[in-house]
Amino acid sequence: MLCIGFEGTAHTIGAGVVDDDKILVNESKVFHPESGIHPREAANFHAKHIADVFRDALEKAKIGPKEIELVAFSQGPGLGPCLRTVATGARALSLSLKKPIIGVNHCIAHLEIGRHTTKCKDPVLLYVSGGNTQVISFSNKRYRVFGETLDIGIGNMLDKFGRLLNMPFPAGPEIERLARKGRLISLPYSIKGMDVSFSGILTAAKNLIEQEKKENLCYSLQETCFAMLTEVTERAMAHLDKNEILLGGGVASNKRFQEMVNNMATARGAKLFVPKQEYCVDNGAMIALTGLIMYKSGIRMKIEDTEIKQRFRTDDVEVRW
Ligand code: AMP
Ligand code: MG
Repeated sequence: MLCIGFEGTAHTIGAGVVDDDKILVNESKVFHPESGIHPREAANFHAKHIADVFRDALEKAKIGPKEIELVAFSQGPGLGPCLRTVATGARALSLSLKKPIIGVNHCIAHLEIGRHTTKCKDPVLLYVSGGNTQVISFSNKRYRVFGETLDIGIGNMLDKFGRLLNMPFPAGPEIERLARKGRLISLPYSIKGMDVSFSGILTAAKNLIEQEKKENLCYSLQETCFAMLTEVTERAMAHLDKNEILLGGGVASNKRFQEMVNNMATARGAKLFVPKQEYCVDNGAMIALTGLIMYKSGIRMKIEDTEIKQRFRTDDVEVRW
């Protein structure tokens, strides 16, 4: 069964096509703002490029629009104007082709594509992106959030800090590069129960910009925040008695992050799974794949059910598959 999936929760407009469990194409275009993502500007970018990624995806998959049997789209969580734009495109396509439509939870899609492409079975997902930071795992019919950020996402924190140092967006890769030459200075280690918080650390680092070397600030930001996330993930694994860790989100491409999580995994006799970069970041293939899995499990949506959900919670979805 052929399914096309559209991703558009934030800066990426993507279209992916899957044929049952085979990923045929994964096309995307990324909005690169000069500083920070303005939701309406990102939405305009998606409106401008959604037809391009759609056309490119079909061309590369060597299929015509009429062969599509299911339309999936990212229903949330994400930026309102972006979600609305992409949902409108998906609805129009579904209605014009007279094919069913499925709205997909973006965080669950990260987990499903990770499971599918790395072949892990029942992981604890450490999802670290620009807007989201969550520790997610399956328990009693749902993917549940065992820990998350109480304020901003880790990627967003890194980007905000990078902006103060005049780094281009996204700042994560440049912070990673500078961090290699830094040494540790003290920053607030902010864990509350199973949750984490990044805004205080950002403020502390910001207040040190005049007096500290930027390499030290970058190194210490990474060490502190990555250690917090590793700690929460380890506790989730112990609580759930699980032995697989899956990474997802753009920050997962950070080598020091991978190393720290891997050290924890090795110490517990667990295994770390890192999807290929194109499947770690926001992408259309993960929406297509998850939409199809949902459809095959019997889930159906009417157009009225496809309203976007800016604050769509991971555990709102009953996992029937
Ligand atoms: P996403 O929202 O999942 O598409 O991921 C984008 C986020 O990943 C941005 O906030 C980037 O700064 C961050 N990011 C990308 N590469 C790296 C890296 N090597 N280290 C840390 N963060 C990164
Ligand atoms: Mg994402």
